[in-house]
Amino acid sequence: MQASHEVAGQVPVVMKFGGSSVADLERMRQVAARVVERARVQPVVVVVSAMGKTTNELVAMARALREPPPTRELDMLLTTGERSSMALLAIAIQALGRPAISLTGSQCGIITDHQHGRARIMEVRPFRILDEVHAGNIVIVGGFQGVSYKREVTTLGRGGSDTTAVALAAALGADCEIYSDVDGVYSADPREVPEAVRLGELDYEAMQALARAGAKVLHAQAVQLAEERGIAIYARHVSPGVRGETVIRRNPAQRAGVDAIASDASITRLALELRPGLSHAALASLSAELGALGLRYLRVDGDGASGLLSRSQRTDAGAARDRFAAITRGLGRSLKAAFAIEDLALVSCIGAGIEERAELPATAITALEEAGVQIRQVFTDTRALAFVVASSERLAAVQALHRRLIGARAHPSG
Ligand code: ADP
Ligand code: ASP
Ligand code: MG
Repeated sequence: MQASHEVAGQVPVVMKFGGSSVADLERMRQVAARVVERARVQPVVVVVSAMGKTTNELVAMARALREPPPTRELDMLLTTGERSSMALLAIAIQALGRPAISLTGSQCGIITDHQHGRARIMEVRPFRILDEVHAGNIVIVGGFQGVSYKREVTTLGRGGSDTTAVALAAALGADCEIYSDVDGVYSADPREVPEAVRLGELDYEAMQALARAGAKVLHAQAVQLAEERGIAIYARHVSPGVRGETVIRRNPAQRAGVDAIASDASITRLALELRPGLSHAALASLSAELGALGLRYLRVDGDGASGLLSRSQRTDAGAARDRFAAITRGLGRSLKAAFAIEDLALVSCIGAGIEERAELPATAITALEEAGVQIRQVFTDTRALAFVVASSERLAAVQALHRRLIGARAHPSG
């Protein structure tokens, strides 16, 4: 745990509000009131996302001009969404008579690597935030953004404001509260599976597996960072009247089994086939180049390679596809064929000790078969049993798996 930077004997709290919580000025005012209320008892640092669907709109504009958009300029563009909302929230708080100041990721000392579109936080130097907190300000930080060592503006990947919040909580020794339009993490997206139940507590690893599998309620890098820094995350509903929550922390007492179903509807499968006889050196460099693309379930062997690319989780998906095409061209005569198969979804059963549950694949596959879902690929690891299906069959697969693996033993908790 970090040393905490107490202000007048009080530990600060980081409160993060996502896009839906600040989608319009009325909601912005409600968030401002909530923050001001909290700041009466404790120093508050707020992390805020772009308003509503702003990020999607900005991505669409860039793509209309050039496909794929250059990732550096895309990052520059996307950070304006958070810049608008942080300034508006600071103004809304000032309108309530409390001093507040907005700061960009760069001004807050959030230093990242150079990967535009999916940068990773390397270091946080929170001096400016601390100065402002000591001066009595409520600090509003634009989420999802940082600055690289080359002084380039970067973004942390879709949903990355959660990661800003955890990184700041770690740097300040603060608690981390993430507010959104759902009162915690459920056993499936509650918009799609009405009988989904809230999970009162979740282990870091299970939450990370869920996020990577497409449950956008929390960002995977945020959970990884929280685990590394020993920060508990409290996921709550933005409206104070809704009292549930999910706490994500180290939780050793886990039973083996499926806790949740997650899905990603925007999968492209990239694959290549090789002619026999590729040298070890060529195989090594192919592995390294494909590894740098950050594909899920990457497989490389003497016959070829394949991996899954998520378009909804990454703003650099178009650039990754271009890079894949360049890698295949570089293989020259060794390449037999290359494919990019669109319109796929990944549907994952997430829990602990998945590999120990020998009966699980058969149970899940029977459930999918009964629902008429055609399975394209199956992957397993200790945290997930995952199926690639057609996008059009994603929802049926999620519902069938939830009904069979969770529905029967579901009981509300938390
Ligand atoms: P914010 O804009 O506040 O960051 P997000 O839209 O990123 O919020 O995340 C909240 C949404 O995540 C919910 O509206 C819900 O539809 C979706 N979601 C997907 N999977 C889950 C899950 N397992 N539990 C809760 N919410 C989920
Ligand atoms: N505004 C960014 C997005 O829509 C970051 C976030 O909301 O966390 O992905
Ligand atoms: Mg989010």
